[in-house]
Amino acid sequence: MKTVGMLAAVLLAASGAQAAPAGGAADAQAIEIAKKLISLRTVRGAGNQTPAAAAYLKQQMVAAGFAAGDITVEPVDDTALFMARWRGSDAKAPALVISGHMDVVEAKPADWQRDPFTPVIENGYLFGRGATDMKLDMALVVATLIDMKRAGYTPRRDIVLAFSGDEETVMKTSSILAERLKGAEMALNVDGGGGLLGEDGRPQYFTVGAAEKTYADFQLEVTNAGGHSSAPRRDNAINQLAAALARIGGYRFTPQLSPITKGYFEGIAARQTPELGKAMRAFAVNPADKAAIETLAASPAYVGQIGTTCVTTTISGGHALNALPQRATANINCRIFPGVKPAAVMAELQRVAADPAVKFSDVTEGSNPTDASPLRPDVMTAVKKAIGAVRPGVPMFPSMSAGASDSMWFRSVGIPSYGISPLFLKESDEFAHGLNERTPIDNVPLGVRYYRSVLTDLSK
Ligand SMILES: [Zn+2]
Repeated sequence: MKTVGMLAAVLLAASGAQAAPAGGAADAQAIEIAKKLISLRTVRGAGNQTPAAAAYLKQQMVAAGFAAGDITVEPVDDTALFMARWRGSDAKAPALVISGHMDVVEAKPADWQRDPFTPVIENGYLFGRGATDMKLDMALVVATLIDMKRAGYTPRRDIVLAFSGDEETVMKTSSILAERLKGAEMALNVDGGGGLLGEDGRPQYFTVGAAEKTYADFQLEVTNAGGHSSAPRRDNAINQLAAALARIGGYRFTPQLSPITKGYFEGIAARQTPELGKAMRAFAVNPADKAAIETLAASPAYVGQIGTTCVTTTISGGHALNALPQRATANINCRIFPGVKPAAVMAELQRVAADPAVKFSDVTEGSNPTDASPLRPDVMTAVKKAIGAVRPGVPMFPSMSAGASDSMWFRSVGIPSYGISPLFLKESDEFAHGLNERTPIDNVPLGVRYYRSVLTDLSK
């Protein structure tokens, strides 16, 4: 922590070029907002305090001089959405959207070392549910915008804060926000991307999230007439299903490479064992390289980066120990490479199952297939400049996430979306959704400077 903290002080002292006030006020406000947000239990269900979190954010912004009429806090079921528009000087320029979410995953206080909804700063960390995912990021953005306004900045294009209230669950507010913001220039998702700290505290690399795999669930079902188990027939629902699952289990989708995964493999190869690194470099040149595919496919951490993957996740069948099964079902969960349609994946699985008795249906809920966002030079340049200023010399490359975020909704209405959070975490500190969530607090001054630079460059 010490190294990074000292670095921040040096950089702050040297940042005279930017006509912004000293970082101090914005840094303090970011911490204050993050603590307040963590103290609100923004969890789905009874007592959900997301509407209170939205109202609090509105109050902070209005107090800083943002027009109350341009800030919407709208109840949706037991949660709320938050949308704040900072009007730019050019009403015709499409808006710059900053996307995030106010809700958090449930946390059971009894299992935590500290109360998850009581923010604590200790040993250089901010502790509490949402410290990583993603109340600190939201606080950094809000405090930075307030600071920019205080400094007299006026964006050219509108800057719109779009914070959802159920990203971790049903994403209803996420889809409403994306729908309303159709036509925006781009969305910066402050809940994605981010940097890795080595266990020694030194920054290793930074990634910009530009794509997400599509989540899909396919149900397989075989039904038979059934009967007495003492009189077996050739067709047996469980056997038929098992044989189809075995064929699917042995199948590999044709590996794919995109500009995003190419950049990712090239960037991350140097950090791997020699064998993995070699495979990554070879795959980035030729995604049909057999040896590279074998090596990457054998790595649970990277197999998802080389194409669509499908695995059997549940199975059930039969109704009595002494009866022929009348029904057997299984679920196949797929993580589909961006740009590929779920229907095409299901058709391919059907072909591999090679048994017309196995009926397939798409039972996916709450997912929305999306293409990757283009690696726009303006975004990459702005982010690279900002990261370069606060974390000099740290390599930056694009990434594709295996999980879904609000970016899915923006991409599905044609708004390119980029995960650009400046938080740097150690692997051993990665507790999002888990116990004892925490984030190094010296991310704050660097994060404020980073956001000021990125938001200025992309809104002017
Ligand atoms: Zn999140």
